[in-house]
Amino acid sequence: MLRTSRAIAACFVHSVFSSSLTRSAPYKLSVRSRLLRMVLSGRSSPCFIKPITFQAENINPAMLISYRDCCNVSKGKKLDFECTKLPLKDFCTFIETEPKSEVVAFFRELATELESKLKILDFHMRVVNCEEGFKVEVFYGSEKLGPPVLPPSNCISCYPNAPLFPGQEPIVEARECVLEEFSSQPHAVCRLDAKGRCGFIITPTRHVDRMSELDDEELFGLWSLAVRVLREANLPFTTMILNHGTYRNVEHLHLKVWVEKNLYEQYRAQWSNERQELWRQLQDLALKRPRTKRHSKKH
Ligand SMILES: [Zn+2]
Ligand SMILES: [Zn+2]
Repeated sequence: MLRTSRAIAACFVHSVFSSSLTRSAPYKLSVRSRLLRMVLSGRSSPCFIKPITFQAENINPAMLISYRDCCNVSKGKKLDFECTKLPLKDFCTFIETEPKSEVVAFFRELATELESKLKILDFHMRVVNCEEGFKVEVFYGSEKLGPPVLPPSNCISCYPNAPLFPGQEPIVEARECVLEEFSSQPHAVCRLDAKGRCGFIITPTRHVDRMSELDDEELFGLWSLAVRVLREANLPFTTMILNHGTYRNVEHLHLKVWVEKNLYEQYRAQWSNERQELWRQLQDLALKRPRTKRHSKKH
């Protein structure tokens, strides 16, 4: 039975790939599994892409088909992941109404597909709602410098007294940005954006580099806190961003939840004077921050 489904899967992949290979850019490929539908698209045509041959010991029963991207690294590659579970739900509803195990399984499948199968470790991951349901867009393949290497004690998500803008006055400590009203659960913390942008930063309590390193409780805790914050603040999100590897600007995994400016300003109007003042300081410090040269590496 497995052989049959794999044969069908391989044939599907084969036909998709052969048609895409004869056509020039932009290309679009589609792969489906139990919880995920994955679409690969880009501006240039892939060199060659072929289905992975399943290793007996590695068969994940949830995954019907997969593939390997054998292209040389080029700019502007993008993968789209969509949740295949019906009915389709917007992202917040998905997190709130699916069983925890399904939410965890969705993100595990996504991480396994990206990191273990496609070997993509450096990427910009973006959650957006679409007409029906939501999708996770993954951008990769551009060379980035990655986060600056800092001593562990400088981690602003681990050390409450770490300065957010080292060397600049006034000193604002990391703890000052914590939104205590949203940070009572054990696995994740919610903060103001350190640069005073319109949104929230959600970090796992434990210092990890990648979403795949989180345990189930932490993984669910991260996404569910983002949704809880939005619901309690009565705000919709525009995008949620989770950068990995060289696409990060800070080592400690952090989920950026962005909100439309006008709506965020209405929300900010409800803050205490103290928090408003902190917000103004952050924006000011970010503006006056000495510019560092963090352009792309050239070979
Ligand atoms: Zn075929
Ligand atoms: Zn940390």
